[in-house]
Amino acid sequence: MKKVLGLCFFVVTALSFGTEPTGKYKTIVDGLMALESSHPALAKVFSIGTNDEGTEIYALRVSTSPEKMDPAKIGQFIVATHHGNEPGSTLFAMEFLKDLLNRYQSDELWRGNLGQMEWTVVPVLNVSGYNKGSRNERGYDPNRDYPGPCSDKGYGKLKSIRTLMEFLKTRSFAGSVTAHGYIGNFTYPWGFYTDNNDTLDENRYREIFRKVAEVNGYSYGNAGDAIYPANGTFEDYVYWAHGSWSLLLELRNGSAKDVAGTVPAIAKYFDLIDSTPSSKNQFEANCNRVQGPDLRRE
Ligand SMILES: [Zn+2]
Repeated sequence: MKKVLGLCFFVVTALSFGTEPTGKYKTIVDGLMALESSHPALAKVFSIGTNDEGTEIYALRVSTSPEKMDPAKIGQFIVATHHGNEPGSTLFAMEFLKDLLNRYQSDELWRGNLGQMEWTVVPVLNVSGYNKGSRNERGYDPNRDYPGPCSDKGYGKLKSIRTLMEFLKTRSFAGSVTAHGYIGNFTYPWGFYTDNNDTLDENRYREIFRKVAEVNGYSYGNAGDAIYPANGTFEDYVYWAHGSWSLLLELRNGSAKDVAGTVPAIAKYFDLIDSTPSSKNQFEANCNRVQGPDLRRE
């Protein structure tokens, strides 16, 4: 009887607290915890909030005062694994963090720009998709779930996306990178259905991205021209809603070598962008009412 009661208690407990990371996601969260343990003065694991399953979406904050958010520092943001079948993007986030922490540990750089910055890196946004190796989350494409100037309804179906949108309001982020695979390019807004893909920052974006692409030989351009338009993406949202300089990374194949070559390119991007969000992020062209099929598979 005692055994049966014990089993019942275990089942009830497991259901009530069924929110701890499991599967491959647990390995990534353990990796974040290990980075915090090895760099306690620079790194802190925290949750940006929960998804539809009640699972915490964990991030690592890297700064010279990581225990709490400091809005006086320059905010930088990286999110990976909107699509659960792109594990190269997860690897990229973790390798970027390791490289970033190494750079912080250099005496010379501590006195430079890094000391003024605060980084937030979310390696896995689509937790259930990542654990299953599937692109979507609960049947929806998370990277079509954001509002935008040409998609003002039908967004925010996923709690993970609503959670991230709330988090992006908690401080200013000068720069943003969203990691995907696998094409081998860097793109910038706009990427939705419009009669003009150029933002008011087109020249500035082009100047920055040319230098970023020189580092690893990827191609670059604005997303609508370089890939294929899609409404409701993070990379357009973060620029349109917050002015954050926005880079969509499409890794070439997500191999360790590809990721290792791309980490310094993204570090260069964060060096080149302005220290404040753009103030020219308003959309002034026309939305295309007729939309083609959503052909993006990356
Ligand atoms: Zn993707």
